[in-house]
Amino acid sequence: MINIVIFGPPGAGKGTQSAKLLDKYQLVHISTGDLFRMHMKEETELGKKAKSFMDAGNLVPDSVTIEMLKDKVQAHPEARGFIFDGFPRTTQQAEALDALLSTLSTSISVCLSLQVPDEELIKRLLERGKTSGRADDANEEVIQNRLNVYMRETSPLQDFYQNQNKLSAVNGVGTVDEIFDRLCESIDKLSAQTV
Ligand code: AMP
Repeated sequence: MINIVIFGPPGAGKGTQSAKLLDKYQLVHISTGDLFRMHMKEETELGKKAKSFMDAGNLVPDSVTIEMLKDKVQAHPEARGFIFDGFPRTTQQAEALDALLSTLSTSISVCLSLQVPDEELIKRLLERGKTSGRADDANEEVIQNRLNVYMRETSPLQDFYQNQNKLSAVNGVGTVDEIFDRLCESIDKLSAQTV
């Protein structure tokens, strides 16, 4: 199994690149942001719980997020591997993910960390906000809060994966295809090592 964490601040291109990666490597894509948005659209209890956190650009509490992630992983016993997009975002989530994967006798193969400067992120998010219909993309204050939350709570996870020798920093500036090629290079290097 190959299990990838695609990591980076909001606007780094995680969703765009995940779509291309799952096609190439035949993996199951799990985006916790997409799952929350689906729940919000369908007005489920979970969606109602998540809405106020998401609209303000804050993290949904770990207990809720981890439970949702577990359900999604367990719904795919046939998976050849997973791409985790937007998860984990806290140390507690990263530890829960390791524990969950170990019950499936597998583990994270690599954490691909997209590196993009803040000015570029803000530009991309405001541009996306014109068409995404996402409340959290349309407002510059909320965008700034999401970047602050990333710096404070999520960015330190790079050390978590570095300590496991699983961190691969990838330049996230360039065309979609250029960035995709860089990510594939990192993944293919990894597969070559594990053969
Ligand atoms: P994203 O689509 O990944 O940018 O996520 C949009 C929003 O969903 C975030 O700003 C959070 O409010 C919430 N969210 C997504 N993934 C997580 C997570 N792993 N932990 C907590 N909140 C999350």
